[in-house]
Amino acid sequence: DGVSYGLLPRPCRALVLLNPLSGPGLALKDFQAVVQPMLAEADIAPTVFVTERPQHAHEKVRDEDLAQWDALVVMSGDGLLHEVVNGLMERRDWEAAVKKPLCILPGGSGNALAASINHYAGNARAAKQELLTNCAFILCKGLHTQMDLVSLSTASGKRLFSFLSFGWGFISDVDIASEKYRKLGNARFTVGTIQHLARLRVYQGRLSYLPADAAPGAERAEPPAPVPNGHAGSILPPAETEAPGARGEGALPEDSLLVPLQQPVPAHWTVVPEEEFVFVYAIYQSHLGSDLLMAPAARLHDGRIHLFFLKAGVTRVMLLKLFLAMEKGTHLDLRCPHLRYVPVRAFRLEPRASAGVMTVDGEALACEPVQGQVHGRLCRVVCG
Ligand code: ADP
Ligand code: MG
Repeated sequence: DGVSYGLLPRPCRALVLLNPLSGPGLALKDFQAVVQPMLAEADIAPTVFVTERPQHAHEKVRDEDLAQWDALVVMSGDGLLHEVVNGLMERRDWEAAVKKPLCILPGGSGNALAASINHYAGNARAAKQELLTNCAFILCKGLHTQMDLVSLSTASGKRLFSFLSFGWGFISDVDIASEKYRKLGNARFTVGTIQHLARLRVYQGRLSYLPADAAPGAERAEPPAPVPNGHAGSILPPAETEAPGARGEGALPEDSLLVPLQQPVPAHWTVVPEEEFVFVYAIYQSHLGSDLLMAPAARLHDGRIHLFFLKAGVTRVMLLKLFLAMEKGTHLDLRCPHLRYVPVRAFRLEPRASAGVMTVDGEALACEPVQGQVHGRLCRVVCG
């Protein structure tokens, strides 16, 4: 059950999902000018699928015969890769489908996974064309390995798979409100941060988590006994409660660390005593944007959710200092008493009001109670 690395075959058949409107709107032009000549040298044959609307890429990979492809490449921001991951997880054969090597080429305004992979590869910080060239070169080399995914469940019954982040409060509001500045590329977050500092607000809710270093024996949410809420069939042996076709055909991975949202979190979880926050941000890769190194310790498959939260009472000056320090990843060195960082395996967030937005991989989600847990090494990604 160790870490596995693989190499893309040559010739390599790559399906490139490209959002022509992502970032400054140059994805197609940059792909043709920068990426395509490099791929030709590396014996990688791209077939470009230009998305025409949101969810187009989701439907494409959900319904596609994946045997035709050796890799699925996303040339866009993180939002399009989020669609691709969730499209794959909707397939009956998700367990095999999600092992198809994925690759991100930064074409959007939020390119956090591309920046993280560039960082893991040992490259200096890069943005724009330089980051694109680095990521295209990483694809040409063709090494791929496992990546963790986080399974998120909401009170209204949504189940989502996330490769990058879950957020609530200040950072998420900036992310969504600044989408109108997409043409600025990554600078959209800086502009948005300054604007939002002026009207800093507090977000009320309860945050709970399972620390990553909790004793392994105490990790499972429940003993493998009948489920407490007395669903009919809960006392049947597992073989009869499983869907026909069992393992991997349909049934999604089980969230063994979580109990239903209507129940209190398990006793060995930590409940944060304060209930007023400026933001809660759970990130599973190192970068929040191409110049925001939020979780320097994060790696592709470290089995951890890097949970940050900023408690209410922080000054605007300190908030600005934290964001500026994040450029180098030194924000924890400021020892701000309002900022907390804990590596966890699972978390739950219960907002008190449904105002505002939450974000998953930078995409907006209606604000409601949500919980999630990490699934180590669930998918594969091209890395440095
Ligand atoms: P960016 O980093 O610029 O936000 P993303 O890849 O995150 O780029 O894409 C932003 C959004 O655009 C995603 O929600 C995606 O579903 C949507 N999208 C994809 N293709 C199109 C299209 N052709 N027209 C409009 N929206 C699209
Ligand atoms: Mg986006």
